[in-house]
Amino acid sequence: MAGFDFTDKIVLVTGASRGIGKVIAEEFARAGALVCGTATSENGAKSIEENLHAIAGKGLGLVLNALELDSVAGVVAQVTEKCGAAPEILVNNAGITRDTLFMRMKDADWDAVIACNLTAVARLSKACVSPMMKKRTGRIINITSIVGEIGNAGQCNYAAAKAGIIGFSRSLAKEVGSRGITVNCVAPGFIETDMTKELGEAGLKYWLDNIPLKRIGQASDIANAVLFLASDSASYITGATLDVNGGLRCA
Ligand code: NAP
Repeated sequence: MAGFDFTDKIVLVTGASRGIGKVIAEEFARAGALVCGTATSENGAKSIEENLHAIAGKGLGLVLNALELDSVAGVVAQVTEKCGAAPEILVNNAGITRDTLFMRMKDADWDAVIACNLTAVARLSKACVSPMMKKRTGRIINITSIVGEIGNAGQCNYAAAKAGIIGFSRSLAKEVGSRGITVNCVAPGFIETDMTKELGEAGLKYWLDNIPLKRIGQASDIANAVLFLASDSASYITGATLDVNGGLRCA
């Protein structure tokens, strides 16, 4: 992506081993950032690091399991130790689904999705905000979902977490704006990744019929929005949710 310069900015991207997070991490690396990306396994972290080094000659792969809430903030401490400073840009991208109709949803499926997709976002944000406040600058970008905006049958847990992210981000934006920190969301629509590949032909046709731009989104569409919100060009944008959905929400 041309035009953005993040030279030597320390960027933490969660869930950077696959899908949307992987492309976000790659684009920040191409724009000069020192990118720290997380995966749930050692192998995943190693692959992230190798990929970032192939692109930019620098970068870190770290292990993060957002379901283990007590240790989530530890990843920020690791970044600080290994990079010499805390993340200046945090992209909360890691997310999971445990879909089923609400009446059949097990408490464990509710708890896991809220923990990974909402509580971990808050913990990571808290760990990053304090050093950002001291520096009087910072960017937090949270990946929510169109499902958090309009709902979706079979995804009550996911929708609650993603809607929660939007309310959380708006509130935090009000708390930290005077310190030069912006907090925004990107709300993807239907993006081609592992998370959506189970859909099958009929499901795919349904979405294509309903997306005004008549194509499934790509991870790069989301990365473009994230890099914009992290850039100086977005310095007067905070508490916003940027829809990146091919027009699906207005269909
Ligand atoms: P994905 O392809 O399934 O990748 C998920 C990423 O999250 C992977 O890097 C994975 O790491 C990591 N992850 C999974 N469980 C985790 C855990 N317990 N702790 C920490 N990290 C974990 O997902 P995606 O489609 O790229 O989605 C990325 C974000 O966009 C999510 O927040 C998702 O809700 C949101 N989103 C996606 C779509 C879409 O259409 N794809 C639409 C709206 C919103 P491992 O590789 O180690 O498992």
